[in-house]
Amino acid sequence: MKQTKYIFVTGGVVSSLGKGLTAASLGTLLENRGLKVAIQKFDPYLNVDPGTMNPFQHGEVYVLDDGAETDLDLGHYERFTHSKLSRFNNLTSGQVYQAVLEKERKGEYLGKTVQVIPHVTDKIQDRIKQLAEITEADVVITEIGGTTGDIEGLPFLEAIREFALKVGYNNAVFVHVTYVPFIKAAGELKTKPTQQSVAKLREIGIAPHILVCRTEKPLGKELREKISMFCNVPYAAVIEEKDVDHSIYEVPLMLQREKMDSLVCKLLRLDVPPADMKDWQEIIRKLIAPQHRVRIGVVGKYIGLNDAYKSVYEAVIHGGVAQDCGVAIEKIDAEDIDIEHPEKSLKGLAGILVPGGFGERGTEGKIAAAKYARENKIPYLGLCLGMQIATIEFARNVLHLDKANSMEFDRDTPDPVIWLMEEQKEVNKKGGTMRLGAQDCHIKENTLAARLYESLLIQERHRHRFEFNSTYRKQFEQAGLVISGTTYGENPLVEIIEITEHPFYIACQFHPEFQSKPNCSHPFFKGFIEACMNEPQKVRTNLEEPETP
Ligand code: GLN
Repeated sequence: MKQTKYIFVTGGVVSSLGKGLTAASLGTLLENRGLKVAIQKFDPYLNVDPGTMNPFQHGEVYVLDDGAETDLDLGHYERFTHSKLSRFNNLTSGQVYQAVLEKERKGEYLGKTVQVIPHVTDKIQDRIKQLAEITEADVVITEIGGTTGDIEGLPFLEAIREFALKVGYNNAVFVHVTYVPFIKAAGELKTKPTQQSVAKLREIGIAPHILVCRTEKPLGKELREKISMFCNVPYAAVIEEKDVDHSIYEVPLMLQREKMDSLVCKLLRLDVPPADMKDWQEIIRKLIAPQHRVRIGVVGKYIGLNDAYKSVYEAVIHGGVAQDCGVAIEKIDAEDIDIEHPEKSLKGLAGILVPGGFGERGTEGKIAAAKYARENKIPYLGLCLGMQIATIEFARNVLHLDKANSMEFDRDTPDPVIWLMEEQKEVNKKGGTMRLGAQDCHIKENTLAARLYESLLIQERHRHRFEFNSTYRKQFEQAGLVISGTTYGENPLVEIIEITEHPFYIACQFHPEFQSKPNCSHPFFKGFIEACMNEPQKVRTNLEEPETP
């Protein structure tokens, strides 16, 4: 039987260092060396999953095919590698404790005192083994969320320490992602936080093999020597990960230049050829020096936090890569839109995108944006809530149902063109109860959707409670709205709507952004950017460099 190799990625000093990106980028490099890679994330918080967390605090909820609502780092894993993810790729303390407590209630601990060590830590270790078994991966990368020193992270660190000991030398590597801040007043990079964070890890028995140093400025030989000496890692294991100039997709190339993947393979005794990164280099070329440029607007309510629409921004960039087009994303707060004069915020945009969301706040601004796009023939892409918004707008302004709304925002609307799904009516718990995950969708022939997908049967991921109210379907269709995607069965749900007399106006009930990759753009985003490139508005004098979320 083959020996699976394990890489553990921890983080030090501060959060938001891009541990997930580092783990995913290492995954890219190992995959391009011919290895089968599986990546998982352990989150020390007590929520069972991030599904109930506010996206403005925690970032987007990333949904997998099997309907698991997971941390956004899993989005990086899917974009950077080919590994197929399921609910086994994300574990939270909440899930661990839930499982341990259920077992205790069943009496399965046979009278023992149930403790963090060994019961919680064993459960965590089971999940590492389980992923290795399910995926049959050569290498399992496990990222531990949070920062070394957090109380809630301790059981996870103890678990990986024990696990590494059990699988033995040469089969496990600890990578610690740390921060080397530049202190302006001193004009210097400082290594002390890194030293202390490594000391904190050593206190619990983990001696990292590799340090990935996040920094604004190059480390230089002297600093690398210092970090090596005081953190007890060889000089070659001090890896510099500088802030990227253009795009997060540069990170794998950066780590390759630092020879991180060679070092990992050496430590794990993996005899594999170097990574071929030609395709990846071409992606970067298109991101840095695209042939074309457009500016699009994303109209949302969590605009202040990049992570809240992470996959949407990424998918837009991928659409640009597919068209050799740099995309500048203007983030527009829906509440700032002047309902009477949306042009004040939207004029000059080559395309408008309304992403998913929950709750009433900002919806009138989004409806105004959808109307502006429809009337002015500006490419429009609506995702989930963005489809519901387009439906309400069409009902109000084309069908003249002035008070049409979603029942999510107005329970007593006389025209609930968006209403609660039948299956949701009995649901009263919040966590994990929406219509979730991959569902089949049937595409109507000779529509924009059919042209984009080049297929009549597709699968997309969902996360919603409300739906298009099919009792209005005829009325909409007679007025020119095309229903180009539905579920199968007797009472099909409406999944995609579009408008024919328009260069590009399409909206879907699902989240295509979750299935887009830098080297394989989702067709909706590819088509959207293509349509934006054909817009006369794209000729703007003040086009900035493309966005790098
Ligand atoms: N709030 C809407 C619903 O629950 C849309 C959800 C979403 O955009 N993900 O149906």
